[in-house]
Amino acid sequence: MISSLHRPTKALIDLEAICQNIESVQANIPQGKQTFAVVKANAYGHGSKQVAQAISHLVDGFCVSNIDEALELREAGIDKTILILGVIMPEEVEIARERHLTLTVASQEWLDMALAQGISLADLDVHLKVDSGMGRIGVRSLDEAEHLLADLKKAGAHVAGIFTHFATADEADDTKFNQQLAFFTDLITHLSETPALVHASNSATSLWHSETIFNMVRLGIVMYGLNPSGTELALPYPIKPALSLESSLVHVKQISAGDSVGYGATYVAQGDEYIATVPIGYADGWTRDLQGFYVLVNGEWCEIVGRVSMDQITIRLPEKLPIGTKVTLIGQDGDQVITATDLAQKRGTINYEVLCLLSDRVPRVYSK
Ligand SMILES: *Cc1c(COP(=O)(O)O)cnc(C)c1O
Repeated sequence: MISSLHRPTKALIDLEAICQNIESVQANIPQGKQTFAVVKANAYGHGSKQVAQAISHLVDGFCVSNIDEALELREAGIDKTILILGVIMPEEVEIARERHLTLTVASQEWLDMALAQGISLADLDVHLKVDSGMGRIGVRSLDEAEHLLADLKKAGAHVAGIFTHFATADEADDTKFNQQLAFFTDLITHLSETPALVHASNSATSLWHSETIFNMVRLGIVMYGLNPSGTELALPYPIKPALSLESSLVHVKQISAGDSVGYGATYVAQGDEYIATVPIGYADGWTRDLQGFYVLVNGEWCEIVGRVSMDQITIRLPEKLPIGTKVTLIGQDGDQVITATDLAQKRGTINYEVLCLLSDRVPRVYSK
């Protein structure tokens, strides 16, 4: 989708905040660990090219989810290590080699299939994925890991790392976390040869289990200034949300008792009310379940009344205000603030999803 530039709706991205958040994590974890920035899904909606260029000097490498996200970074001039966290199809291996991308290998079946297809893994950088309990991808035993490592080497691949991913690092109950940690630690300890990079830490692990970092962290949501646990666990140190979402009033009217607003006529005014229209809707990622949520205008909470349409929402104003008045949908206005976590709570989801679903129609505007 093309960005709608001639519309007051825009996401403001504070690149300096992202840099500060990375530095805060680095200052609070043991020294000498490598930092990989997770910029998959367009850097959680913040713009992967701009984010990667702004933080490249602070990190050792980047993580993305697939080949195309990696190629976007290479096109943007990023020459650091790029680790693809997901499984790519064997027929894409050649692209990875050409662009010096690092692949995740997660199963013997994948390697056997690649070799059976005559695909060369010679000189390819790979990390081996261990499924310590997440249950998505990766080998599930020491035997499997040993076998796959040996076969990768035989095929000429360079196994630069081994890693796992925690399912519950963002929860107060650490039973499952400790089981996964014990499994992975045991596997690493008994491997006949350990790859140079050993990593298990996402944002939550870096924040709340920083004693368990092996020698590299993979930082996602924390860089963007949001709490991985939503509201369950308190942050051990402050971080700053990097994205705010703004628009303007484009239409303001007074309605009277009995007048309805929006599709389905789900909102009916009780008396004289000022209703304003804001040009954002579910096609922007401002989903329909945000009916009844709030935005900020002149530092005051204004309810979203009536259905959220594809391209417009309607809000109730405390008073008549002119067209062009600023509306804050995510971010600070005066003493009040709306966070992606607040939206997530209203929507019954997580702040990650709120950010990722902001569509390309919303232009990203950068400040440093
Ligand atoms: C997305 C992802 C991360 C980053 O997770 P955050 O919770 O955003 O820090 C780290 N590792 C893997 C394997 C991932 O898929």
